[in-house]
Amino acid sequence: MRIAERRRDEPRRHLLVGANWPQFCVQGAAQTAMLAATTAGATLFMGLGQSTERMADFDLSVEQRQVRRAVREFAEKEIAPHVERYERACEYPTDLIAKLAPLGLMGPMIPEEYGGSFSDVLSYGVICEELARIDWVVASVVSVTNSLVGGSILRHGTEEQKRQWLPAMAAGEILTSACLTEPGGGTDLGNMRTEAKRVEGGYRITGTKVFISHAAHAGLFFVVATLDRSQRHKGVTAFLVEPGSEGIAIGEFPMRTLKRDNLAEVHFDSVFVPETNRLGEEGRGFPVLGGALDMGRYSVAARCVGQAQRCIDLALDYAQQREAFGQKIGEFQMIQQKIADMICRTEGARALVYRLGRMKDAGVERASMESSLAKLTASEAATYNALDAIQVHGGYGLSEEYEVGRLLLEAKALEFGEGTSELHRKMIAEFALGIRKQ
Ligand SMILES: Cc1cc2nc3c(=O)[nH]c(=O)nc-3n(C[C@H](O)[C@H](O)[C@H](O)COP(=O)(O)OP(=O)(O)OC[C@H]3O[C@@H](n4cnc5c(N)ncnc54)[C@H](O)[C@@H]3O)c2cc1C
Repeated sequence: MRIAERRRDEPRRHLLVGANWPQFCVQGAAQTAMLAATTAGATLFMGLGQSTERMADFDLSVEQRQVRRAVREFAEKEIAPHVERYERACEYPTDLIAKLAPLGLMGPMIPEEYGGSFSDVLSYGVICEELARIDWVVASVVSVTNSLVGGSILRHGTEEQKRQWLPAMAAGEILTSACLTEPGGGTDLGNMRTEAKRVEGGYRITGTKVFISHAAHAGLFFVVATLDRSQRHKGVTAFLVEPGSEGIAIGEFPMRTLKRDNLAEVHFDSVFVPETNRLGEEGRGFPVLGGALDMGRYSVAARCVGQAQRCIDLALDYAQQREAFGQKIGEFQMIQQKIADMICRTEGARALVYRLGRMKDAGVERASMESSLAKLTASEAATYNALDAIQVHGGYGLSEEYEVGRLLLEAKALEFGEGTSELHRKMIAEFALGIRKQ
């Protein structure tokens, strides 16, 4: 059954008023009362603060706005004070990630029957946006778990696989990694070299994956490997692999950025994977990947909107305080131009992301072109906003004292993950030209 259909059939748990959100129940009720007491228009957004937030929330439901408010408050209070410390110590933020599950944030796309806190897709986007506004790594955990790994299990897994893995993922007992990229390249996935050989009772996987987020801390790998390289994408099969399996070695993969993510390379040396851990049919790994990346690009795009918004927030704060020539720098037109450009980029990207979320909520299973549009626009918005925000900060933009410098390389990283900008431009043009079909 398609996820969208399954969702319509199931009872919905309202994130903010559900049992998984105890900490926000009172506040959520208060907000509901406040919002219900007002009518449409400006008064609806009373107390929401900056003008950019009013635009962002214009067409969200009361419940979706509660989700934004609650996740923002959580991220600012519980995560923000610690991010720099983890980055400087190159330490994976295990204890920050542990705070997600009790609030239902580990499983917003996992149905309740598998232990999740199932929300609508747009709310899931808002969650990713608000977490990424504060921390790339924490948001990445949620996005990899729900879009790539959990989503693939939901779409293509057996009932046994769903029962085995999804509750543990939603409870935060295991983190997950998606092992797709290889040393020979990540864009041309059809040319992968990691091989799966059929053996009695299952398969043996041999090969190397690189740039793997969360790998050293994961309890489950989603791995793609080929049964027959000559068949290119038709030889690719998806597997669920337990990191403790004999023959797996996890090596360091040092990066210039995101040192707190501990990116890794994962070597598979004739690793036995039982047949029951194959995800989907043999040679059908590409459709599994397609669905995973479609949702993955949605959540990455939402994360980029969060990062772009953070750059605006930081630039506004600074422009309102810093003085030059006897006035606030925010009064200079050239600074105002940067702020206006940042807001235009962010709102444009956000509109594409929310539309994509609504398409998925309406039951559209695959929206590859719209995913590419959202991901490309949002990831470039985040990078250009970081550049502008650094410029607004002057030299302090590159000082360790300010967050904004760190955001630049973190935003740039999302121009690669889940498809590079070149790949998305190519796909958008091919869809438009009729060369590529959904
Ligand atoms: C921080 C970070 C985290 C990541 N996490 C993960 C992860 O968890 N799991 C995972 O599997 N991967 C992960 N990746 C890898 C990421 O998905 C790849 O970097 C990406 O897919 C590109 O692959 P590549 O780096 O090998 O570049 P290549 O594929 O070698 O491409 C090099 C350049 O050529 C361009 N190019 C390639 N083909 C074409 C074409 N047909 N037309 C035009 N231009 C083209 C690309 O756009 C790029 O500019 C991560 C990367 C980063 C930076």
